[in-house]
Amino acid sequence: MMQTEHALGLFGGTFDPIHYGHLRLAETAREALSLEKVRFIPAGLPPHRDAPGASAEHRLAMARLATEDNPAFEVDPAEVEAAQASFTILTLERLRAELGPKRPLVLLLGVDALLGLPTWKRWNELFDFAHVAVANRPGYSLDSARMSPELAELTHRRHGTLDALEGRPAGSLVQFSMTPLAISATDIRARRGAGQSLRYLLPQPVVDYISLHQLYI
Ligand code: ATP
Repeated sequence: MMQTEHALGLFGGTFDPIHYGHLRLAETAREALSLEKVRFIPAGLPPHRDAPGASAEHRLAMARLATEDNPAFEVDPAEVEAAQASFTILTLERLRAELGPKRPLVLLLGVDALLGLPTWKRWNELFDFAHVAVANRPGYSLDSARMSPELAELTHRRHGTLDALEGRPAGSLVQFSMTPLAISATDIRARRGAGQSLRYLLPQPVVDYISLHQLYI
């Protein structure tokens, strides 16, 4: 008898630092998309942006602290441990090889990240390895008028419903909605730089870690 393999969510980011926007996105995706687990993958050296405010080791430690009380969350240190720049397509190739061809993989993105997809290495190939699920984020909309023609075409062609994730290992784009949270790591770093409180924007163990290690000042 054929056995269905449960979908695994993959959630990459700089997580500089990880905050409730990230955690709520992952929890909502887990529930809405029936994911068995969500694997957080902090980027080592992100290719698309300035050097992060905190080292890869600190960002990994904060991701671990923030997720340790949720049995459905796990943290993958591979991008942090790799010496070279982090590219999602290479991570997907590695995970496919590790997890086999049948397991549905779902790459989780906020809308802002989806809009930036055409700048990613080999972005056209992402759907060969995974599905993509996109969450709303305040300040951004999934409006095809704002997309490059290539991205508009791809999102139209790949668009699927939630049940598309169950039967196939990769290939569909779905949307899910989360309680809108206008929290960003940029804002958190700016508050910290200005000496303001970070409480209730991110888990308290992460707030304490930032203080202890004097990050972002
Ligand atoms: P920065 O402000 O430094 O750019 P960020 O808060 O956007 O950081 P990232 O680590 O760059 O965090 O984001 C990782 C992923 O989480 C991306 O796919 C992004 O779209 C998503 N994300 C981050 N914050 C939110 C939020 N508040 N709501 C929805 N998605 C979010």
